[in-house]
Amino acid sequence: MISREDRTIPREAAAEPGPEPEPAPLLPARMVNEFVYCPRLFYLEWVRGLWADNDDTAEGTDLHRRVDTPAGTAPEPGPGVRQVARAFELSSETLGVTAKIDLVEFLDDAARPVDYKRGRPAPTPARVWEPEQVQLAIQALLLREAGYQCREGVIYFAETGERVTVPITPELEQQTLAAIARARETAGQPDAPPPLVDSPKCPACALVGYCMPDELNLLLHRRTARPRTLITREPAARPLYLIGYGTQLRKDGNHFIVAPRDGEPTRIRPIDISHVAAFGTVTISTSALHALLAQETPIAWLTRGGRFLGLTSGLMGKNIQLRRRQFTLTEPEALELARTFVIAKIRNQRTLLRRNSRFEIGRTLEGLADAVARARLAPDSDTLRGIEGYAARLYFNAFPAMLRRDLPFTPGDLFRGRNRRPPRDPVNALLSFAYTLLTKDLTVQAQLIGFDPYWGFYHRPKFGRPALALDLAEEFRPLIADSVVITALNNGEITSAHVRRIGAGYTLTDDGRRTFLRVYERRLEQEITHPRFRYRLSYRRLLDLQPRFLAAVLLGELPAYQGFETR
Ligand code: SF4
Repeated sequence: MISREDRTIPREAAAEPGPEPEPAPLLPARMVNEFVYCPRLFYLEWVRGLWADNDDTAEGTDLHRRVDTPAGTAPEPGPGVRQVARAFELSSETLGVTAKIDLVEFLDDAARPVDYKRGRPAPTPARVWEPEQVQLAIQALLLREAGYQCREGVIYFAETGERVTVPITPELEQQTLAAIARARETAGQPDAPPPLVDSPKCPACALVGYCMPDELNLLLHRRTARPRTLITREPAARPLYLIGYGTQLRKDGNHFIVAPRDGEPTRIRPIDISHVAAFGTVTISTSALHALLAQETPIAWLTRGGRFLGLTSGLMGKNIQLRRRQFTLTEPEALELARTFVIAKIRNQRTLLRRNSRFEIGRTLEGLADAVARARLAPDSDTLRGIEGYAARLYFNAFPAMLRRDLPFTPGDLFRGRNRRPPRDPVNALLSFAYTLLTKDLTVQAQLIGFDPYWGFYHRPKFGRPALALDLAEEFRPLIADSVVITALNNGEITSAHVRRIGAGYTLTDDGRRTFLRVYERRLEQEITHPRFRYRLSYRRLLDLQPRFLAAVLLGELPAYQGFETR
């Protein structure tokens, strides 16, 4: 407890004032609108800097493109004034807000803000939703502070072309001032407000994929019903692979053009690209690079042979709290996470073997179950690594049991236990390539969420090693990477013609790489039923979901991370 004396400022300290405190940034009026819609949405956007487009926001942006160009000036208020100004910006230190008003109509000594909205009027007596009223009231208060009388505002609904007049009453003014104060207070909190429970607002929310309201509420026992399938909508965008010496990616108007050295160029829409994976000597023009960075589409660079070199992306996300937690996790907390990654991986390895083995492998299954039991009790990371290594040896010794006997490869040469750098047989070449793809995907994902992909909890940091992505990859290695290798070989999609020997190692040919990428992408599209949420989702969505759960654990929104395991 702090006593009265403790709070007394010493004379010397009082004589030397410290630096001026940084003023809090002004809140944009549209952020207060978001706060009134959902305090969590406001926090995710304003404090954590998250943004995602959905059809509604894209339509809104399109609408505002037409009204966002400043035009006209603000006249001195007075009789006979009849004038409009577009994209009119006003700020107030007193109110702590700023706004860009779509249109202001000046009439004598009064001003009337007009806010453009997509859609149609609300089916309520006021014909305008509360967040819209508050946003308009902020604009009115700013105009009043600038010296104009402002008794009403207008919302123009683009879909129906209707103008709805909103009186700026003392009640609305009080409601608006209270919303501004609460939004500022919320922005100063270390934690995001919890998700709304069963709210009809969530399906229309652009950040539903980040927020995961039903999933978090279920895991937090705030709701019991099975989650609505709010976030399983597949993103339309897919990775763009640039393969083949001399392939170019350039910009042409609103499209990207992929031009292979020999072959027809292809046009691609920006919204169809989730990230670019550039293999070997390919070229990306400056304008294409700028456009990718501007739309926050990362570029993963890989050697021609498929070694992951790094990532080009724009500025780091604003989610500093997440990175701070990532770097300040205690040893015991990091060990708990590492344990979860390792246990999920071993259990998924065991399931894969149990489902696909063509021979008796009972003892291996027992050994893996024993490794899981020991991992649960591992007192430190080194012991855990030892257990994981033991499990990996058991698993890879049994790996050939999942491959067809009659594969068209030289017997004995196909697989000689797990090895790498260079992979000394075709299976290892495929496994290494599959792990690289998985790591690349999780590096991109981790960065998009706001993590530093190079700081992990199980894999030690090492120059250029995306340790966090490797941590996240553990549970998915058997489910995605190993499974793709088995499918590609057993289906005969990868044959001996797709691999070649170079010195002591094996590598894939360009054609082999393309073929393997198709099998890999097909696996990501494959749907499974989530054992906990009981809805169907693709592995691609799962690669998005699990890092988000990890972020929720680090930010204190969830008590513990759960690895994804199939039965
Ligand atoms: S999904 Fe729902 S709870 Fe989450 S931010 Fe959006 S409106 Fe709020």
